[in-house]
Amino acid sequence: MITAEQKPIDEIREMINPYKRILAVGCGSCVAECAAGGQKETAMLASALRMAARMNHEDVTIDEKTLDRQCVRDFVIQLDDVIQNYDALLSLACGAGVQAVAEMFPEIPVIPALNTEFLGETRDQGLWIESCQGCGDCMLYFFGGICPISRCSKQLLNGPCGGSKNGVCEVDPEVPCAWQMIIDRLARFNALGRLEMIYPPKDWAKKQGKGPRKIIREDQQS
Ligand code: SF4
Ligand code: SF4
Repeated sequence: MITAEQKPIDEIREMINPYKRILAVGCGSCVAECAAGGQKETAMLASALRMAARMNHEDVTIDEKTLDRQCVRDFVIQLDDVIQNYDALLSLACGAGVQAVAEMFPEIPVIPALNTEFLGETRDQGLWIESCQGCGDCMLYFFGGICPISRCSKQLLNGPCGGSKNGVCEVDPEVPCAWQMIIDRLARFNALGRLEMIYPPKDWAKKQGKGPRKIIREDQQS
């Protein structure tokens, strides 16, 4: 999933300052899972903004609504009926959701309330870990299901650096060495032979070389 964190409230207040009727729009998918922009967080942020406005004697309306997903047009059209009541939207989606909403409603400013962070997993309550950088050429098979691009601090593809010690990364003692994990896991599957080939530098053209990426699936088009 895509992870995100809420921007500082002062930054949000500054961005919404020119507007009087604001709809805070939550997203019920990834950002709900990472407790940044779901229904609950949207209600809390809207309430905090209303309170701050009241304390400053500002005449502002801040309503809230949460869509299942802001990055899917079929859900964003649910704003059609209410959009005319507002002069700005405050989106608690990831950057993709903010842009999808802005593209569908070009006549109204869409302001991001979150900082989008990374592709990752929920490891524990209140703990999210980066695990994929969307490189466009997944190599998890070769590395026993541990991604060195995302989880090795130096993105090494051919074994650990000299700083790996007792299974811990030299960059941060809280971080396990990805290469130690790769070796342990491949050994468990009797697959250490996969490390005998030399992996060339990552071809980043598959990620960023040709501008914004798109996926076209004709079998999914009607
Ligand atoms: S190899 Fe690429 S696609 Fe696979 S997990 Fe790592 S960054 Fe993601
Ligand atoms: S200690 Fe391990 S995880 Fe850290 S940079 Fe070196 S190889 Fe990568």
